[in-house]
Amino acid sequence: MSFDTLGLSDKVLAAVQAAGYTTPTPIQEQAIPNVLARKDVLGIAQTGTGKTAAFTLPMLTMLEKGRAKARMPRTLILEPTRELAAQVEEEFSKYGQHHKINMALLIGGVSFDDQDAKLSRGVDVLIATPGRLLDHFERGKLLLSGIEILVIDEADRMLDMGFIPDIERICRLIPMTRQTLFFSATMPSEIQRLADTFLHQPARIEV
Ligand code: AMP
Repeated sequence: MSFDTLGLSDKVLAAVQAAGYTTPTPIQEQAIPNVLARKDVLGIAQTGTGKTAAFTLPMLTMLEKGRAKARMPRTLILEPTRELAAQVEEEFSKYGQHHKINMALLIGGVSFDDQDAKLSRGVDVLIATPGRLLDHFERGKLLLSGIEILVIDEADRMLDMGFIPDIERICRLIPMTRQTLFFSATMPSEIQRLADTFLHQPARIEV
């Protein structure tokens, strides 16, 4: 199996080659074509399986068409911790070197003004922890009505950290026409219920 047949753009394939990856991991092989086909995905995968590239690579391909408007991010990735959010931003930067994408990281401990300035310039990829995202939303600095793709990453850790009510609120603020990609290492009943509520006929991928 190679990356060439998954449907990724030439620019993304060049980034994959530059990263030194020759073979997609099982989660990448199964998730990438589904993401590109605009299907919802329920990925049951641990860290270390290559799950970050399984969503960042097809998202970059899809973002090549269209442009972000001020305060209306096109995609949103929710992470339970600042550290994970920063790692996902790094991966987007690595694979998106030759893409003109605007990114913003909304995490605690960083000034609101800097984050706000980025939002006002238009953001293709917004990576956030749930609490900080809702703070910006409540201040009227952010519109969630333009989100095309929502990623909920590390859902079981979100549960451990008490973020499920925030996640539910955020999911309700984003149009139903979005595509949702949902990842969790384990599937306790609360997480299964969340997936059942917010995913539409997902491709279920377990690695
Ligand atoms: P993750 O599971 O997303 O935390 O990824 C684990 C590590 O695997 C990251 O450091 C990636 O750079 C690396 N990686 C992701 N996909 C591949 C691949 N197809 N081949 C080799 N390494 C990869």
